[in-house]
Amino acid sequence: MRSRTRNFTSVSTNFSLNPIISSQSPSFEFDVVIIGAGIIGLTIARQFLKESDLSVAIIDASVPCASGATGAGQGYIWMAGKTPGTDTWELGIRGKKLWEDLAKSIEDQGMNPLHELGWKKTGSLLISRTSDELFMLKDNVRLYCEAGVKAEFLSRKELVLKEPLVDVEEEGGAAFLPDDCQIDAQRAVAFIQRENRGYGSRYAEFFNDPVVDVLRASGSGGIEGVRTTKNSLYCKKAVVVAAGSWSGSLIETIVEKFNIVVDVPVKPRKGHLLVIENFSSVMLNHGLMEVGYMDHKVAKPSDSGVVDYAHTMSISMTATLDAVGNLVLGSSRQFAGFDTEVDESIIDQIWKRAGEFLPVLRKVSLEDLSKDRKVRVGLRPYMPDGKPIISPVPGVPNMLLAAGHEGVGLTLAFGTAEMVFDMVFGNPAKTNYAPFSLDGRNYK
Ligand SMILES: Cc1cc2nc3c(=O)[nH]c(=O)nc-3n(C[C@H](O)[C@H](O)[C@H](O)COP(=O)(O)OP(=O)(O)OC[C@H]3O[C@@H](n4cnc5c(N)ncnc54)[C@H](O)[C@@H]3O)c2cc1C
Repeated sequence: MRSRTRNFTSVSTNFSLNPIISSQSPSFEFDVVIIGAGIIGLTIARQFLKESDLSVAIIDASVPCASGATGAGQGYIWMAGKTPGTDTWELGIRGKKLWEDLAKSIEDQGMNPLHELGWKKTGSLLISRTSDELFMLKDNVRLYCEAGVKAEFLSRKELVLKEPLVDVEEEGGAAFLPDDCQIDAQRAVAFIQRENRGYGSRYAEFFNDPVVDVLRASGSGGIEGVRTTKNSLYCKKAVVVAAGSWSGSLIETIVEKFNIVVDVPVKPRKGHLLVIENFSSVMLNHGLMEVGYMDHKVAKPSDSGVVDYAHTMSISMTATLDAVGNLVLGSSRQFAGFDTEVDESIIDQIWKRAGEFLPVLRKVSLEDLSKDRKVRVGLRPYMPDGKPIISPVPGVPNMLLAAGHEGVGLTLAFGTAEMVFDMVFGNPAKTNYAPFSLDGRNYK
């Protein structure tokens, strides 16, 4: 990192920057500038630090996990719920493998991945309650096996043997993927931040300091840097927008300067999770999800062909125990703008829905747990075609976008980071870039 102005408060690398503002805002220079310090921005920063000698700055309007999606995430690093042969499947496989590599390297260094990342290889159970769903599950299991992912179909009886607290009707059953894992998003973010900070003066964090504008280079027509509310950050190699649900409006503001129009229809999709602490009545061996969850990933249009976003609230049962044994129950999906207020009626519905699969919960009133419950609310960056954008921004040299991961951003993070890095360096693709490109994208 180099200073571009004479008078600025010296910047250490491990800091929440709070510079003294003079008439001219302090300015700095880095090779790579990343906007957004959610899981996507932080893993991209890590990739550049680890795989190159470039300097990296990461900027956030807030601090990691405080706004956006990442801090609320359930933590499933799953192939269950993803469909073999789709565009995101390959990226999911890659993303999961890179998490597994990280967990292994933590272990090799004598640390405990459960402690560092909340890492658990729980396996996943995708549960069905009706015969129609069962048919779909059996088909999915076949596809998983053909795609090389271990999967097994469980009848209701076999399901109950594996997960004794789960009960479904006679026609129910489950797909079991024994290699699926989970993390604790907040622990994992803290770990990645510590790793990034370990690169010393090559890395700097600018938090509580939103990007408000870009600095356009004269001549090349590319981007020279960004302006935040407090600083100007110049960049030599690339600016990466990884601002989750805010990426669309941010990109629009930026490209206006270049007189071009880029359509980034990312929308915040609010989700609630209920965390019950000190709740010994529920011992789960696996991560659970009802199979209906898969239907809600992309909001469906009505008969008129239009999506009525205001009326697409859905609740699907998800349940797991986190790194310290808290019961984590999910989850809701709704379009409510950038509102992050807790809606108690949704929490009630999450609790009731969980009780339909875990009868032991029906014996307990949620009110009796008021002291031990926490609610997490996050804004999933939703894309209408169900795929993130990981792409150069056409017409703006040196600028890339990595956003729109909706409900799978934790799983896809390392695969996304690798893709961005390879794009910047012109490396051969490890996974196919084309489906995630902005160029020629059809959002239907
Ligand atoms: C309830 C819930 C459960 C989930 N469960 C899972 C799961 O089990 N598995 C899974 O894989 N995924 C899960 N997800 C999805 C996952 O959490 C997201 O896909 C992922 O966190 C998106 O990360 P991100 O970095 O793109 O966005 P975010 O985490 O939203 O980060 C974006 C950041 O950009 C910053 N920002 C915005 N505007 C600006 C600006 N102008 N300048 C600077 N910074 C800015 C914000 O402050 C924010 O910190 C879940 C999400 C939710 C809500």
